Amino acid sequence: MSAWISVLVHTPAHAALGPVLTYRFATPLPAGTLVRVPLGKRETLGVVWQDAAHESSGEIDNDKVREIAGVLDTVPPLGEAWQQLMRFSAQYYQRSLGEVALAALPPQLRDLSPLQMQRRLLRSQRGAAKAAKAMALAGEAPQEISPASEAAPSSLEPTLSAEQAAAVGQIAAHDGPFLLFGATGSGKTEVYLHCVQTLLAQDPSAQALVMVPEINLTPQLEARFRERFAPMLGAQAVVSLHSGMTNPQRLAAWLAAHEGSARIVLGTRMAVFASMPQLKFIVVDEEHDPSYKSGEGARYSARDLAVYRGRLQGAKVLLGSATPSLESWHQSRPAAEGGRYQRLLMPGRIGASAQDLPLVRRVDMNHQPRKAIFSLPLLDAIRACVARGEQSMVFLNRRGYAPVLHCADCGWKSECAHCSAFRVFHKADRTLRCHHCGFTERVPRACPGCGNVDIAPLGRGTEQIEEQLEALFTDIRRPNSVSAEFPEGEPVRVARIDADTTRLKGSLQTQLAAVHAGDVDVLVGTQMIAKGHDFRRITLVAAINPDGALFSSDFRAPERLFSLLLQAAGRAGRDATLGKGSEVWIQTFVPTHPLYAALKQHDYPAFAQSQLEEREQAGMPPFSFQALVRAEARSQEAAQAFLNAASANARQDMATWDGWADVLENVTLYSAVPMAIARVANVERAQMLVESPSRGALQRFLAGWQGVLHATRAQPECKGLIRWAIDVDPLAI
Ligand code: ADP
Ligand code: ZN
Ligand code: ZN
Repeated sequence: MSAWISVLVHTPAHAALGPVLTYRFATPLPAGTLVRVPLGKRETLGVVWQDAAHESSGEIDNDKVREIAGVLDTVPPLGEAWQQLMRFSAQYYQRSLGEVALAALPPQLRDLSPLQMQRRLLRSQRGAAKAAKAMALAGEAPQEISPASEAAPSSLEPTLSAEQAAAVGQIAAHDGPFLLFGATGSGKTEVYLHCVQTLLAQDPSAQALVMVPEINLTPQLEARFRERFAPMLGAQAVVSLHSGMTNPQRLAAWLAAHEGSARIVLGTRMAVFASMPQLKFIVVDEEHDPSYKSGEGARYSARDLAVYRGRLQGAKVLLGSATPSLESWHQSRPAAEGGRYQRLLMPGRIGASAQDLPLVRRVDMNHQPRKAIFSLPLLDAIRACVARGEQSMVFLNRRGYAPVLHCADCGWKSECAHCSAFRVFHKADRTLRCHHCGFTERVPRACPGCGNVDIAPLGRGTEQIEEQLEALFTDIRRPNSVSAEFPEGEPVRVARIDADTTRLKGSLQTQLAAVHAGDVDVLVGTQMIAKGHDFRRITLVAAINPDGALFSSDFRAPERLFSLLLQAAGRAGRDATLGKGSEVWIQTFVPTHPLYAALKQHDYPAFAQSQLEEREQAGMPPFSFQALVRAEARSQEAAQAFLNAASANARQDMATWDGWADVLENVTLYSAVPMAIARVANVERAQMLVESPSRGALQRFLAGWQGVLHATRAQPECKGLIRWAIDVDPLAI
C-alpha cells in the first residue's frame, strides 16, 4: 500500500491556493521535499505540500493517481518558514501558490533529475574538501569569529563613529524593524557589517541576508563583505544571489544558503525568497529604491516581504536609506502616533562636518538664452572643475540623441508604428529606436511625409549632451599629466554611461573603473550613474533638466525626483579633502519650487513631511492602500470593457455574498483608463485603480474578486482580451 502525497506544482492557474495535486509514493514524504512528478505529458519539479483537504479526501480516484517519478533526496526539505513565506506572498500579491513557490527556486533545480543532483552534490563536496585541505596546508583555517565590539579592531574594522555606535546599540537592544536614516557616506554599510559580525559571533549557525537594489551594486558590496568575513568564516560563507549569475552559480549559492554553509547571502530582490533556515538578520540597503518591486509575475516588494519574513523567522530587519520611501518614513513615526518601525538617525558624513555638504545651486533657466542646454554659469563651473583636475557628473534621464525626430514642413514625427510613443533618434548608429517595443529602423534620408530633407531632432538625450560638451570643451585643457605631446595640458575627456553604452556584459564595470581611475573628466549619464557608486573625485554634479517630475501625473514622481537628486548629490564630495567645495547644480524653470528649496537645505524630513501632508489630504498611500488591475487586449475598447465589466460584476455579484457588504463599502473601484503608453507592440493596455483605507478590506476584496475576474473574461464584450493581472501596492500609476 503506497502513500498519497500532496504536491505543489507550477501550472498557469490563478487560484491563490494551489494547484496542489495528489500523487502516490511508496513511503510518506515530509512537507517541503522536492520531487519530480509527471504532469500531463511532461515531468516537472514539485514541492511536497501539507494540504489537509487532499489528505482526508476519500474521493480521489485511486486509478488516476500517478506515481512520483523521483525524490531529490540530496536536498533537505524546505522548512515550514519558507513554505509560509510562499503562502503569504501568493495570497498577498494575488498569484497562484505554485507559480510563486516554483519561481522562487533556482532555475536549474527545476531541470535536474535526482541523479544529476546527486552527481552535482558529490562534485561540490569534493571541491569543498579540496579547498579545506588547501586552507589547512596554508595554515589558513577559518578563525574563531569574535564579536565586533570585543575584538581588537583589525585594520579592516574602523572604530565606529558616535552616530554609528548609537545606531548599533539601538539595534542590539530592540527587536525592530529599524529604519536607518543616514546621509550618503554616513557609514551605513559599516553599520550593516558590524551588526552582521556581532550576530554571527553570538550564534555559530546564524545566517544574514543583505539586499541591494541593483546587480551593478553587488560587486562593490560583495568585495566589502568578503574582505571582512572571508578570513573569519572561509570564502564559502559569503554567497551572492542575483539574476546576473549563471544557472549553476545560482544553484550552488542557493543550496549553500539552504543547507546553512552560507552564513551571509548578498543579493537583489530575488534573494528575499532564498531558503535560509537560520536567518537572524535582514538588511535592505537603499530601501526606497523602486527596483525592490518586481515588474512581472507576482509583483512583489522585496522590502515589504523582508519585513514580513523578519517577523516570521524572528530575524531583525534593518532598512537603510538617505531618502527613505515615504511608506517607511511614515511607518517609523513615533510609536505613540502609531509608528511600527524604529527610526535611527545618522545625519553626519564620515570624516566631514555638516558644513561640508555639497552646496545646491539652482539656475533659473528663464534667464538663460532660449533653448540653451547648458546655462553659462554651469559651463563655467564645469570648466573650473576640470581646471582643478577634478571630475564632474552631468545627468539627464533620457538616453539617445533626441527623443523625437521632426519635420517642420509637414509636421511628421518619428512615431513608432506599433506603440503610442515616439521612436528615439540615436545618432551613434543613425537609427530610430522604440524604447518600448524595440522596433528599429535606419534614419530616413528625407521626411517620409513630404520628402523634405531637413528633418531635425527635437529635445535632447544623453548622446547629445555628450556631443555638445565635447564640442564646448575643445578650447580648454586639463592640467594633470603634462606630456610632451600636449605641452599645455591634455584635452578634456568626456564619457557617457547609460543603457546604450553598457549593453555588453562587463562593459559597465569597465566604464566605472575608468571613472574611478581618473580617466574621465566629465561623466554624462542617466540615473544609472546617480545611484550608489562611490566616486571619490567627483566634486560637481549637475541635473540638466529635472523639472518634468514636478508636473507628472504620477503622485510618486516628486518623491522619486527628490531621492534621485539627493542621491546624486551624495556622489559629490565623497572625498573628505576634495569634498569641501563640492556643488550640485539644478537647471530649472521653477527655481522657487519647495522641492528644490528642501533639496538646497539637504532636508529630507521637511520634504517628507510636506509630501505626507499632501498625501493625507488627498487620501493617497501610505494613508490608503491601492491595487491596479491591468488588462491587455487587441483593442483599447476590449481592454476597458473587461475591466469595467469586472467592476460592475463585483458590485452586483459580490454584494449578494454573505458578509461582504462591509468589504465592498470600504473599497473604491475607479473607471478603466488607458495606460500612460496605451499601445505597446500592437497590444492595447488599460488599467483600473482599486483603493481602500484599509489594507485588510482591500486584501479580502481582491481575493474574492479573483473568481469574478475569471468569470468576466468569458463575457462576449471581452473578446480580444489577451491577459490581465493584479498589481498590489503598485509603484507607478
Ligand atoms: P554609506 O553606506 O552610508 O554611504 P559607507 O558605509 O560606505 O557609507 O561609508 C562611507 C565611507 O566611510 C566608506 O569609505 C567607509 O569605509 C568609511 N567609513 C565608514 N565608517 C567609518 C568609520 N567609523 N571610520 C572611518 N571610516 C569609516
Ligand atoms: Zn515632412
Ligand atoms: Zn514601439
